[in-house]
Amino acid sequence: MKNPAYRRVLIKLSGEALLGSSSYGVDPLACQKIALAIKEISETGVQVGIVIGGGNIFRGIQAKEAKLERIPADQIGMLATLINGISLQQAFQNISAPSRVLSAFPCPSIVEQYTYTAARTYLDQGTILIFAGGTGNPFFTTDSAAALRALEIRAEVLLKATKVDGIYNKDPIQYPDAIKFERLSYSDVLNQNLKVMDGAAIALCRENRIPIRVFNLFSDRALMQAVMNQPVGTLVEGL
Ligand code: UDP
Repeated sequence: MKNPAYRRVLIKLSGEALLGSSSYGVDPLACQKIALAIKEISETGVQVGIVIGGGNIFRGIQAKEAKLERIPADQIGMLATLINGISLQQAFQNISAPSRVLSAFPCPSIVEQYTYTAARTYLDQGTILIFAGGTGNPFFTTDSAAALRALEIRAEVLLKATKVDGIYNKDPIQYPDAIKFERLSYSDVLNQNLKVMDGAAIALCRENRIPIRVFNLFSDRALMQAVMNQPVGTLVEGL
């Protein structure tokens, strides 16, 4: 097995990744598949933090239709990430991969609260960390949480796992002639309004020069290739 190109990585997993073939909630088989792929990269020696989304359960943007104010709606969204985090942690436990959930907000009877110092210590011990609760604040997304945690744990790359194998100039599902980018600058993504991560997350990465690799989580070996810094998906960096 080759050596990883990074010492520490941050993976952003959207809640959708846990859906599997279901239309709502968490599919244990999808969790198991993801856990196996992440365990495999962790065994190369790379330290792994994961920011988990909640969109498979609830997004704050649904506030109006759910007849909720935006803040409680976002709180429900953040709680959804905790449900996902616990589910994913169980999948790691089932395959004997050391892992732990850290929550952005206190929830002491269920999970430990996040601090950057505890996170770095666990990572140094080889524990796979699942960061739940987003940033802990409403009006943010777990993309922003991913950028934030990547910086806090000093990850060398943000690996954005998606259903698509990179960034295209237009939606490749709708437009078969869409063109995939191999590399882009942060400014390209922001100026061309490419739908990768929200603008706040891209801006934070740009300011702190942390590269983002967008790749298809479900494509064979893509995660391993990303950890080896091989050309897979699209790399966003300061060109
Ligand atoms: N959320 C929030 N603050 C954060 C992160 C998330 O309020 O820092 C809420 C927000 O309502 C969001 C929901 O949690 O819609 C689920 O997160 P997200 O939509 O980012 O999940 P994903 O699309 O990655 O599954």
